Amino acid sequence: MADSKNKEVDEKLREIKEEVVNCKKCSLYKNRNLPVVGEGSHDADIVFIGEAPGKNEDQTGRPFCGRAGGILDKLLDSIDLKRENVYICNILKCKPPGNRDPQKGEIRSCTPYLQRQLKAISPTIISPLGKYAMEFLMNKCGLEEEVKGISKIHGKIYETKAFILDAKLIPLYHPAVATYNPNMMDTLKEDFQILKEVIEE
Ligand code: URA
Ligand code: SF4
Repeated sequence: MADSKNKEVDEKLREIKEEVVNCKKCSLYKNRNLPVVGEGSHDADIVFIGEAPGKNEDQTGRPFCGRAGGILDKLLDSIDLKRENVYICNILKCKPPGNRDPQKGEIRSCTPYLQRQLKAISPTIISPLGKYAMEFLMNKCGLEEEVKGISKIHGKIYETKAFILDAKLIPLYHPAVATYNPNMMDTLKEDFQILKEVIEE
């Protein structure tokens, strides 16, 4: 179902998955239960990139399947997007202990996988969720001069200048912000409406 019309894309994503499952490039492999490689359509026009697996994700191997995932589902639903038509993954594929922030070395070790996933899928919209994904992707996409706090640039539309060309980068708040601040749900919903407009263009 998630397979691409393009067998080469399927093959590339399968290779990445196999490497991630066997990966020991940073110390996070030691405490993970399952790596969370990513899931969704291999033909997705839009890729969402979160931070790292949490407890639920580590147990199931699926991205955004806990509380933050429930919020992401509501947001997708609010613009009639289905999970199976988008691709969802993370900056880090393995759960950091105690849900601490990703470290620089871990991001350096792990993001070559993400970059290969993005190259293979080649989406027209890249939506990093939260600060870590936003900073990494803005820098990769030649938008380093535009990097500001997520509260300043969420919901803005940037044209990529490097890496994945002819794509739009739309940084969003991490859905988890709505679990500790319910007012953020309105902001997230407004940003998803912007996403919907860009998808329909
Ligand atoms: N938060 C993330 O950033 N990613 C997940 O997969 C789940 C929660
Ligand atoms: Fe490998 Fe990434 Fe897991 Fe570190 S977090 S062990 S780099 S897959």
